[in-house]
Amino acid sequence: MAKKIIITGVSGQDGSYMADFILNNTDLDVFGMVRRASKPDYSNLKNALKSSRFKLVTGDLSDSQSIENLVREINPDYFINLAAQSFVGASWQIPEQTFDVTAVGVLRCLEAIRKFSPKCRFYSAGSSEEMGDVTYSPQDLNHPIRPRSPYGAAKAAARHLTKVYKESYNLYAVHSILYNHESERRGEEFVTRKISKGVARILTSIKRDRAFKPIELGNVDAKRDWSHAKDFVRGIWIMMNQEKAKEYLLSSNETHSIREFVEKAFLCAGISGLWHGEREGEEFSISQSYGNAVNPSSSVLVKINPEFYRPAEVALLHGDSSLARKELGWQPEISFDKLVELMVLSDIDEAQKSEE
Ligand code: NDP
Ligand code: GDP
Repeated sequence: MAKKIIITGVSGQDGSYMADFILNNTDLDVFGMVRRASKPDYSNLKNALKSSRFKLVTGDLSDSQSIENLVREINPDYFINLAAQSFVGASWQIPEQTFDVTAVGVLRCLEAIRKFSPKCRFYSAGSSEEMGDVTYSPQDLNHPIRPRSPYGAAKAAARHLTKVYKESYNLYAVHSILYNHESERRGEEFVTRKISKGVARILTSIKRDRAFKPIELGNVDAKRDWSHAKDFVRGIWIMMNQEKAKEYLLSSNETHSIREFVEKAFLCAGISGLWHGEREGEEFSISQSYGNAVNPSSSVLVKINPEFYRPAEVALLHGDSSLARKELGWQPEISFDKLVELMVLSDIDEAQKSEE
């Protein structure tokens, strides 16, 4: 009989890539957990839904009964939890919901596995946001936990819970620290996708000689360690198939500012720009002429909007994934430049299709 895996968060970025990866590289039957929605969006699951080995099942991390029922009925060999309220920015607006899903949700999964499927290997996604107010760079697994958001605090709680359950009940349970990872499937409120979608919108307007509104961003000086999500799901799968469960950290080992992402993203669309002005008055504007295509009133590509500043910022994230590289033989294959290009070209393609 084929082995079975439950993947939560399967409609999201990582969950959908994980489902694709498992279907393409193993014989496992995949049970992708989605929560009830009045208007479901399975656009990330176009590939997975074609497979006879993929099945959607309903559950919610805030509902222990639903998790327990799934684990009891499926009796999975692997349970990969990629569901969360994953947006740091929203975690100040909905702190209780964030903690309930992102921290207590992990406890519900662990309890279900302990009770009904103790041989099942469990994975839950941790975050570099647990490092928060960093004290050194690059950060490794020894860095103290210093979260700066309700989201970061919830992930830190999930980390402790996973360790406690692993040690108390001898479970194969892994919580690994993931630095930022993006893709063509990244949620649109995250800064990278907001920029790549904005670039595509602006390019479409320039080509059609239409005025456009700038992309509005918050703190463009923050720095992140960005990878492609496809590289991370591969790393997670390697972690799940070791002799012993162990915590690892996945990162690109590079750090880049939002400002740099903006410049590269526009260059991928053939648009070069220049920063000018200071603080909240700073703007990124077109630095070259596009024939008649540029309307002078709309040459500003990016402007700062303090509405997007956070109550507490994580100014710098820069990971050190040398342990995972050494012990798991893992390393990212998609560079920062390639990531930006993939995201921008995909959004340009989408924008062109929607114009036709
Ligand atoms: P996404 O936001 O793309 O996906 C999150 C998924 O969780 C969605 O499918 C969402 O479903 C689901 N979900 C949300 N709430 C619930 C709930 N109550 N019950 C069941 N499912 C729920 O996130 P990513 O794919 O980017 O991230 C995957 C995991 O990795 C998350 O835990 C995230 O916090 C973590 N992580 C991500 C990083 C990144 O840079 N991407 C960095 C570090 C950690 P719905 O569509 O219904 O909302
Ligand atoms: P995070 O690292 O998980 O919080 O991922 P985000 O993509 O949401 O944010 C990355 C960084 O970009 C943070 O430091 C944000 O403050 C910064 N940032 C600047 N402008 C924006 C914006 O308009 N939206 C978002 N989401 N982040 C922004």
